[in-house]
Amino acid sequence: MTSRTTVGPAIADLDRRHDALLVFDIDEVVLHFIAPFCELLAEHGARLHFDSFRLTGNVRSLSTGAALTGHALDGITAQLYAEQEQRQTAVDGVIEALERLGEIADILFLTAMTPTFYPERRRLLDGAGLRWPMIATERAKGAFLFDAKARWTGPVAFVDDLPPNLEGVRRSAPDVSLVHLMADPQFRAHLPLLPSSTFEAANWSQAETILRGIVEGDVSRG
Ligand SMILES: [Mg+2]
Repeated sequence: MTSRTTVGPAIADLDRRHDALLVFDIDEVVLHFIAPFCELLAEHGARLHFDSFRLTGNVRSLSTGAALTGHALDGITAQLYAEQEQRQTAVDGVIEALERLGEIADILFLTAMTPTFYPERRRLLDGAGLRWPMIATERAKGAFLFDAKARWTGPVAFVDDLPPNLEGVRRSAPDVSLVHLMADPQFRAHLPLLPSSTFEAANWSQAETILRGIVEGDVSRG
């Protein structure tokens, strides 16, 4: 049996100041991922072709045209995470939006980034003014939302760029409102179908409006 690592605070230990909770994925939601990944690919002599919504098979060598293997992509992703403080930056508007949303709801970052890179990511977030608690986990995100829903009595929303993560939360914690946000517009064009009643935000300004509506009880389903 493989163990699935989690680093960060337990849901039960998080401060609860508000009735509402907003949970955010980090890569492609809070921090740019695709853009710095493409820059790193170029350094490795490869390029991401935005032909469909996946990385494997779409990253090809510039010299031979051959697709990079999953193993090679894993290595490049690990390099990006190891060097994230030099390579990944905050998505436009996220800091201001979270400052305002933090006045009406508690905020939690929930990332599937390899948990061994937790210290690098914590420093990067803190340096950018994104001081909210973070859990990095290899477990399914739905389990955390299920536990959170038991502690927060008000509205709970989950924001992610990847449809399977939204779908997993819909199954495990059906009362949680779902919001799709993806920083990179090229990849967004190939987005598979989102779970029904998912809100779609094209940027942080739209996401903030949607999330405020959820917290204030105006809407819960997209
Ligand atoms: Mg993501």
